[in-house]
Amino acid sequence: MNVEHVQTKQEIEQLLGVAGIRPRKRFGQHFLIDGNLMRKLVNCAEIGPHDLVLEVGGGTGGLTDLLVSRAGHIVCVEVDRDLHGILLDRFAEAGNITIVLRDALESKHRVCRELAEAIRDFDGGQGGEVKLVANLPYQVATPLVMDLLVDHPAVCRLVFTVQAEVGERLVAHVGDKSYGPLSIVSQLRCGVEIVARIPPQAFWPRPAVDSVMMRMEVRETSPIAPGDVPTFARFVRAVFDHRRKTLRSALRYVVDVPTQERICRSRDASRRPESVALNEWVAMYELTR
Ligand code: SAH
Repeated sequence: MNVEHVQTKQEIEQLLGVAGIRPRKRFGQHFLIDGNLMRKLVNCAEIGPHDLVLEVGGGTGGLTDLLVSRAGHIVCVEVDRDLHGILLDRFAEAGNITIVLRDALESKHRVCRELAEAIRDFDGGQGGEVKLVANLPYQVATPLVMDLLVDHPAVCRLVFTVQAEVGERLVAHVGDKSYGPLSIVSQLRCGVEIVARIPPQAFWPRPAVDSVMMRMEVRETSPIAPGDVPTFARFVRAVFDHRRKTLRSALRYVVDVPTQERICRSRDASRRPESVALNEWVAMYELTR
């Protein structure tokens, strides 16, 4: 069987060497050098020829190589000017990629305009879908995933690597230490699964922490309409801002008195936000409207 080639550590070092640069820690530059994991990531995304793929952090193009041969179109965002230059060279002949030099986040809670517009303008008429496929830089992973889930319902699958701690939050259930708004919003919108655990040596240079590969598949039906997800997420976040308080006290900061009473009447409001399961968050949210 013909196994598709994936950039090796030597090849990456050579690309950086020619450009006269070294991996930059402040941009979370850890390149995935394990070919099997790289192919697994792409396989999990099940990319079709009409799909729009969003890649955040193109780096030297190791993952991008596998995307250009599969996707209808790719929007690849890279913040590092030198790596952006390497990507432009590498994909000069590819007709199906837009390479953007900028921070993938416009603000703390919003993806950049180029990503938002690509998602908005995507025409799914030929049966394609919008997917995030990326080895996510550490600093942007949480806000990026959160905003895609909350504000961009057209994105229907997210496959990415991320530090294990964020992966644990994505899959956490009520009662788990890492359970919080990220778990609740992810699981409201998606089936969420850790598909692989990734040791530091799968990356070059090695990160200080373990990573995981995540697959998030957006549910076809959701208890909350896509247009209401932003207000749902704001509600959950606002209550969790007072996570040390009881539900009854926390709600005083978030909703008016009649709503507090409606919510507290039908449940044990002496619990903390962290002991409220997803379906109950949905039920509480319905009572705010
Ligand atoms: N895609 C490559 C590189 C992953 S390392 C691979 O699969 O191995 C993460 C990449 O994200 C780096 O190239 C880094 O420069 C880039 N990056 C870091 N912060 C970013 C941001 N805010 N917006 C866009 N790219 C960013």
